[in-house]
Amino acid sequence: SAAKNSPFYPQLLQTLKSVFKLPSFRTNQLEAVVANMEGRDVFVLMPTGGGKSLCYQLPAVCVSESRGHLTIVVTPLIALMDDQVKQLRNRFKVNAIAWNAESSVTERLLSSGDVPIVYVTPEKLKDSGFARDIMQAVDRKGLIARFVIDEAHCISTWGQDFREAYAALGELRQRYPNVPIMALTATANQTTIRDIISQLKLKNPVQLVQSFNRPNLHYIVHEKKGSKISDTIAEAIQARFRGQSGVIYCRAKMTCENLSKALSQKGIRATYYHAGLSPDDRQQAASEWLEGRVSVVCATIAFGMGIDKADVRFVIHADMPKNLSGYYQETGRAGRDGLPAECILYYNYQDLRSLRTMIDNDDNAASTPESKARQKLAVAEMYSYCRNCSKCRRAEILAHFDEKFDKKNCNKTCDVCSNPVSLVKTDATDIARSVLKLVTSAGNNRANLAQGQIVEVLKGSMSAPIKKFSGLDGYGEAKAEDKDLLDLVVKDLLFKEVLDTVSVQHNNSAFHTQYIQPGPKYQIFQKELDKKPFIVTWRPK
Ligand code: ADP
Repeated sequence: SAAKNSPFYPQLLQTLKSVFKLPSFRTNQLEAVVANMEGRDVFVLMPTGGGKSLCYQLPAVCVSESRGHLTIVVTPLIALMDDQVKQLRNRFKVNAIAWNAESSVTERLLSSGDVPIVYVTPEKLKDSGFARDIMQAVDRKGLIARFVIDEAHCISTWGQDFREAYAALGELRQRYPNVPIMALTATANQTTIRDIISQLKLKNPVQLVQSFNRPNLHYIVHEKKGSKISDTIAEAIQARFRGQSGVIYCRAKMTCENLSKALSQKGIRATYYHAGLSPDDRQQAASEWLEGRVSVVCATIAFGMGIDKADVRFVIHADMPKNLSGYYQETGRAGRDGLPAECILYYNYQDLRSLRTMIDNDDNAASTPESKARQKLAVAEMYSYCRNCSKCRRAEILAHFDEKFDKKNCNKTCDVCSNPVSLVKTDATDIARSVLKLVTSAGNNRANLAQGQIVEVLKGSMSAPIKKFSGLDGYGEAKAEDKDLLDLVVKDLLFKEVLDTVSVQHNNSAFHTQYIQPGPKYQIFQKELDKKPFIVTWRPK
């Protein structure tokens, strides 16, 4: 590319290797760095994990005579800021600092020209006269090389992450007209991009907008039912990924360990990784996998940061992730070499249920009612993505990032497009009524109706475990209906929180049964049924 002809290129490549120990640039990194070194404003949209930090850390350590020495990085979270500083100092031996306190030490450091990178929150810049004075002083010495606005979408009132203090960053351009600005984000649609550029008053910025599409990844979703997940996954690996490198994401630490054991017993070389392990054990698990001594790692989402293996042929989710952004990021670890790789997601209603409970029970101070509501919406979006049987998965994932994708271009790289069937719309009002009647009756009669039994009861099965429900209202009321349709209606009502489940553990066993009961939306829905029909869309076998 043209960026390789830049006079800065040799020094940049050298520093990439010597300081950051990386062999080559990823998409748009070199372009961003070169444009910034040339003094241009830059806007970068890159998926999470794409390598945004390097876009400003590399120029920051390549001091150029014309540009000054100090890179000021505005970032929203103190925790993130401390992580970055630690990493720069320990791993890359770069003398970065986090600008937390108002101290003369900070002042001296910043004015000395010895510190290449300082991280600061937007609040600090906005509210502290001290900070502004120092900046002005440093600017007079010509030391400020660039401003970096990380998570730049926070400046836009269009997004959900708007931060008051970000708005004040619009003043940087007036105060420091000659200092180039680099704005970066992983989430912005066209409107937000325009907004960011105008708010920060970027001058004719170089826009590096990367598509989130990963054409070599195949997306597949299966509902978990019946057989044990470890058997299902072992079969899939033996059938399609024998000896190949892969990651299996699990929600719980215990699942990682159990799954890894079960796979090993079936002759699949596997290990596990989660935050409950000591740093040494984590390191060891990671290197066993990176070096190919095991092919599979069963991991929680703690696994991934900073892990970069090119030939990962599959990423399996044994449980449904919390949201599509996380799912995208985790599946993104597959196929970095550009060769085809598969992303297989196993989910069921219980995954949704336990995520909802987790959000409810989260007593972290940062979990406000609003943020809980947002997380629940995100979980619901994830679940709808899984249950959807008509829309291209790739198009759905990209739509989540506000990117349009014509499903004609999917070329059968998702399970929906490679297995098109005609969908049927059915008026399921009567079925829904029968379900509610049955659940009410079960409650009145203190009958424990398991999630796995309700369809059989609606069908009026005469089998031994079902017959005992024959006295309930609604028993056998949907005799003539398709089992799949009944199953779908029940799951839809669970999803809508019309129904709920309680998990009951059996004496001295790890075995749980999920019993059906009315959910928070039970009565509202009951009234709705009198006003409008309940329509479901499904694919009959
Ligand atoms: P982002 O901020 O976009 O989410 P990061 O800057 O945290 O991404 O980078 C994600 C990971 O990618 C890090 O582990 C980083 O070391 C790695 N990375 C960044 N650039 C490169 C590169 N050119 N080659 C290989 N790995 C890279």
